[in-house]
Amino acid sequence: MRPFSYARARRPEEAVGLVAGRPRARFIAGGTDLLNLMKDGVQEHDQLIDINALSMSGIELVENGAVRIGALARMRDVAEHDLVRNRLPVVSEALLASASPQVRNMASIGGNLLQRTRCSYFRDAAMPCNKRVPGSGCPAIAGQNRWHAILGGSGSCIAVHPSDLAVALVALDAVVLILGPDGDRRAPLREFYLVPGNTPDQENALRHGELITAVEVPATALSAHSRYVKLRDRASFEFAVVSVAAALRMRGRTVCEARLAFGGVATGPWRSAEAEQAIIGRALTPATIDAAGQAAIRDAVPREHNGSKVELVQRALAGLLGDLGGRR
Ligand code: SF4
Repeated sequence: MRPFSYARARRPEEAVGLVAGRPRARFIAGGTDLLNLMKDGVQEHDQLIDINALSMSGIELVENGAVRIGALARMRDVAEHDLVRNRLPVVSEALLASASPQVRNMASIGGNLLQRTRCSYFRDAAMPCNKRVPGSGCPAIAGQNRWHAILGGSGSCIAVHPSDLAVALVALDAVVLILGPDGDRRAPLREFYLVPGNTPDQENALRHGELITAVEVPATALSAHSRYVKLRDRASFEFAVVSVAAALRMRGRTVCEARLAFGGVATGPWRSAEAEQAIIGRALTPATIDAAGQAAIRDAVPREHNGSKVELVQRALAGLLGDLGGRR
């Protein structure tokens, strides 16, 4: 690991100023991903600005009817908070399905949203990788791609975004609150993550020096009737092969409103308007559920080792909709 300097920020504006002025400076909170990346030589930074002393860990209901979750709130605290468990159960379930208890005690919400892909080629500094070294190639496309994307990929990159939380938040139309050198701004999480195209090194809409300060999640009847399911190789400390976040508003057996998002299958948390339209205004019968599953994978491009994700997406969605549709 290369030497770097370290400083603690006392105010958000101070933190932003310190990072914005140095191209290779970076914020650090829980450090559960960043320190591994630096130790493995995947990322190099000349200064880390510790933001843990900033007042950004609150969880509260705000005037616009949203639950605001501070970016420094720890994953465990968010998952166990009454507001989140009762008003946004899909968020609580996604967090509890993430990582390990030790990581959830340490990792922050902002850091979770910004964690880097687990593509093994990306994490091996000796390998070519367009995301790490633009223009060097993508060995995953013709290589070991069992964990890679079937949706959203390009000829430059097919890496999956690893966050369970992001999938749940995209399903609930969450908004990211950002502080930068030019002041505050808000970004819908659905537009925050970029598809790789020819520039897989550009992963999200955050500019250098900008700091995520909080996430706001609309707390509605829809969000209260939501769930998360995650299929993975082992029951703990494992990333999703396929995951689904669903929120439904039902009248009797008819779906009035639906939000469906998928993880483990795409280059970012993946909302499917097509799958949502397949069930809105209809009863949740096996036929409509099947139609939603078909719609969700209509544009899928499976690779040599990940064709099973096509079937798993449909099965996971069917199980979750069957469960949610039975609960009012
Ligand atoms: Fe790199 Fe993306 Fe290819 Fe993985 S899939 S090797 S992250 S370019």
